[in-house]
Amino acid sequence: MTKNVGIYARISDDPSGTKAGVTRQIEDCTTICTLRGWTPIVEYVDNDVSAYKPGVVRPAFERMLVDLDRGVIEGIVVYDLDRLMRQPIDLERAIEIYEARMGLVFASAQGDVDLAGDGQTMARVMAAFANKASADTARRVKRKHLDLAEKGIPVGGTRPFGWQKDKLTLHADEAAIARAGIDRVLAGLSPRVLAQEWNADGIRTTRGKNWTGKTVRQYLLNPRLAGYRDYKGQPQFDAAGARVTGTWEPLVSVDMFERLQEALVREERRTRIPRKGALQYLLSGVARCGICGAVMYGNSRGSESGLWYYVCSEANGHNLSASGPAVDSLVEEVVLGRLLNVGSIPVDAPEWNGRARQAEAAALINETMEAYRSGGLDKSIAFPTVTALKDELNALDKDHQAWLHAHCGPSNVDLTRDDWDALHRDERRAIIQTFFSAIVVREATRKSNRFDPARVEPVPRAAA
Ligand SMILES: [Zn+2]
Repeated sequence: MTKNVGIYARISDDPSGTKAGVTRQIEDCTTICTLRGWTPIVEYVDNDVSAYKPGVVRPAFERMLVDLDRGVIEGIVVYDLDRLMRQPIDLERAIEIYEARMGLVFASAQGDVDLAGDGQTMARVMAAFANKASADTARRVKRKHLDLAEKGIPVGGTRPFGWQKDKLTLHADEAAIARAGIDRVLAGLSPRVLAQEWNADGIRTTRGKNWTGKTVRQYLLNPRLAGYRDYKGQPQFDAAGARVTGTWEPLVSVDMFERLQEALVREERRTRIPRKGALQYLLSGVARCGICGAVMYGNSRGSESGLWYYVCSEANGHNLSASGPAVDSLVEEVVLGRLLNVGSIPVDAPEWNGRARQAEAAALINETMEAYRSGGLDKSIAFPTVTALKDELNALDKDHQAWLHAHCGPSNVDLTRDDWDALHRDERRAIIQTFFSAIVVREATRKSNRFDPARVEPVPRAAA
C-alpha cells in the first residue's frame, strides 16, 4: 500500500555551506521509498543546524512533525536515526504522534525502527546514544579549544619545566632531571632539599630563577606531569568519569604520579611536627619515648662540643633523653645490615592493576544510567546494576589506597655502605621508616657512661 512520506535530511557540520551531505542523504532515502513503494512528497532539510545544541530550533524538523500530525505525510524516511533526533525529547515528540495516529510508517537507510511499536525502546536507546555521541563531540570541540590555548604560547606564559617550547614534546635533559628528582622524593627527599640540590647543580626554573621548596612542591603536584589536564585548577573528567588527558607527552606514568602525590602528603605530614627544627635529625618523628610513647625530638641545648640528645617531647613528670649520635648510628647499622642482607627493598607491582577495571566500571555506570533515563532500561535492572558497580568501585578505591600506601616509598633501593653515606638524611629516614614504624628509646637501667644498645627498640612494620 503506497504511502505519502516525507524525507528528512540534516547535516550539522557544514562550515563550507555545501549541501553535498544532504543531497546524498536524500538520494539514499529516495531509494528506500522506491523499494517500499512509498511516494516521497516533501523533503524536509535542515542544513548546518545542530540538533544537539539546546535551544536550537530546526525549522524543517518542526514543520515535518506538524505535517505528520495533520496527516499531510503518512511517515518519515531518514538517513539514520541520528539525523532525525539527537535530543531524547525530539524522539519522544515523534513517538507521541506515531502512537496517536495508526498506520504511520517509518524507515531509515541504516535499518528500520518501528516508532509505532516494539521499536520504540530500541529507538530510545539509540537516541540516548546519539545524544551521548553529540555530547562527546561537544566536549571534544571544547577540549580542542583548550588544547589550542595550550599549544599557543600565551603572553607572559612560560613553558613548564621538562617540556620544549611547544609545551608538548619532552625536553630530554630536563625530563631526566625531573624524573631523577621524583625518584629521590619518593625515596624520602623533601622538596626543600631537592630545591637546594637543583640550585647547587645550576638547574634553574624555566624563568631562570632559583628553585624553592615551594616551587618544587608545586611542580611535583602538577597533574600535567602525568599528562592530566586541569582547567583552572580543577581536574577534568570525560563522560565515562575518566580524567581528561592532554596532548602532551607525559613525564611520568599515572601510577608514578600518584605514588609521588602520596609521598608528598606524607612528607607534608612529617614536616608538620609542631617543633621548630623538628626534622633536623635522622629520627625526628620516628623516635618514641619508652615511657609515654610521645615523639622525641633532637636537642642540642646545654651542650658544648656538638653533643645532642633525643628528648621526650612530653616530658610529663619524666625526663627521658638519649645520646642522639649513639641512637642514630645504632639504628643506621641495623637498617644498613638489613639492606646489605636483602640487597634491595623489593618493590613489587610497579603498576596498580585495578585501573582498567575502574574505568570500565565507571563507564558502565554511565551507560546504564543513560539507558535508564532514556527509558531503554527498567529501574529494576538499572539500579541493582549501578549499586553493584558502585560497590565494586569502592572496593577498587580501597585497593588503590592500599597499593599507594605500600608503594609510595623508595622505588628502587639497592645500596652499598658508600651509597648510604651519600644519602640525604631525609632519604635515610624514609628508608628507616620502610622497615620500622617507630624506634622506641627506653630508660637507662644501668648507671654507665657507655650507651646501652638495649635501650633502642625498633618496631618492625607489619609485613605487607
Ligand atoms: Zn615521654
